[in-house]
Amino acid sequence: MTRRLIELLLLVALASAWGLTHASAGWAVAGALLGAVLWSLLDGIRARRLLRWLDTADTSKTPELSGMWGELSDRSRKVIKKLERKTQSSNARLDNFLAAIQESPNGVILLDGAGRIEWVNLTAAHQLGFDPQKDVGQYIQNLVRSPAFKTYLLGDDFNGEILIGGIGVRPSQPSKILVKIHPYGKKRKLMLTRDVTAVELADTMRRDFVANVSHEIRTPLTVLSGFVETMQNIPVSAAERATYLNLMSQQAQRMQMLVSDLLTLSRLEGSPAPGQGDWLNTNELMLPALQETRALSTVIAQPPHEITEVTQTAFCVSGNKSELHSAMSNLLSNAVRYTPGGGSIRSGWRLRADGGAEFFVEDSGPGIAAEHLPRLTERFYRIDRSRSRETGGTGLGLAIVKHVAQRHGGQLEVKSTVGKGSTFSIALPPSRVQQISPA
Ligand code: ADP
Repeated sequence: MTRRLIELLLLVALASAWGLTHASAGWAVAGALLGAVLWSLLDGIRARRLLRWLDTADTSKTPELSGMWGELSDRSRKVIKKLERKTQSSNARLDNFLAAIQESPNGVILLDGAGRIEWVNLTAAHQLGFDPQKDVGQYIQNLVRSPAFKTYLLGDDFNGEILIGGIGVRPSQPSKILVKIHPYGKKRKLMLTRDVTAVELADTMRRDFVANVSHEIRTPLTVLSGFVETMQNIPVSAAERATYLNLMSQQAQRMQMLVSDLLTLSRLEGSPAPGQGDWLNTNELMLPALQETRALSTVIAQPPHEITEVTQTAFCVSGNKSELHSAMSNLLSNAVRYTPGGGSIRSGWRLRADGGAEFFVEDSGPGIAAEHLPRLTERFYRIDRSRSRETGGTGLGLAIVKHVAQRHGGQLEVKSTVGKGSTFSIALPPSRVQQISPA
């Protein structure tokens, strides 16, 4: 301030002195006035430079000014720098925050007071088929076409959540998206989305499973209770009694087999996969399985099947003996049950080109049409329902085999030609195979 005053006085004094050189008081006053005008002009130029710089607020190009203007520009630069640092840190915080929401497994959409999208994370965009950039600013009800969603969005009860169709793997199979809206601020809304397709599918499967089990148990139970009632109310001959008891025993056996297969399945699902376990000689695995198969064939087939063991040098496979036995028996008994009497069944363990091994059962039965193959291992899926029941099938055999194969790091493979026969194999990886070195 003092400096500016000195500047002003100096200029006025200089200009008056210049006036006095013309030897007149009038010239001196005019000179003083001119000095004052000159000073304000100079001062104005400095102020203008400062204002121009403030417009750009570029702290790297601070104008070099002296005196009060210099002080002003210096202080302004410091304030601007401080604000810049603050903005940078809140921007970084916002970026971090948005990056965290981006990573959320749930979809997040922010809607303004009019229902326009303000921000959408990639999960929600992916679930609902939005473009995370282009669709910002769009009215959400124009993008989500479900009438139920529109009613929910425009209503004022956001306590519940609703299920809408999202973008599925195929247009015919839309995913199931659960939507929940949370109002906040001035009519703004936070919309959360969650893909519940797998949960819904598991729920449907659970419901189907319970329905199937109930159905499977209801039939033999009805037969059993029917005979019990008959025998309680009507006098029956000894021959009739024997027939009834025989039929009742069959139905009880059917239920027993169902329960036993269900228990096996739940054990397989609920227990950890078997480790390398024992090394089991393939010949020793084949022997009891073939004995059971031959016995079954003589009981249910007329004439019995021609059952051949396709022998190869024995080797060892590692795994759980009773699980492998159960899987092998299931495949062998299926071959017997579905191949008409007199047909041929070939079975054995053999090494594969990849160093692994397989247990296979090849039959000359009716074969299976290609459309059934992908569904064969579903629980209770049967192609020939009556044949399965007649021969004591539970519809769970192949589901058990698939589980056993997978638990041993392998898989169940099926090749079949209608009218010619089928080959079912349990393939095991090389890590579970060991050749026996000659003694
Ligand atoms: P099931 O107890 O009914 O035999 P599985 O799970 O073992 O149940 O088999 C599923 C279905 O696959 C059977 O109902 C049958 O229709 C078909 N199937 C299984 N093995 C054979 C086979 N060797 N030949 C023809 N069809 C078969």
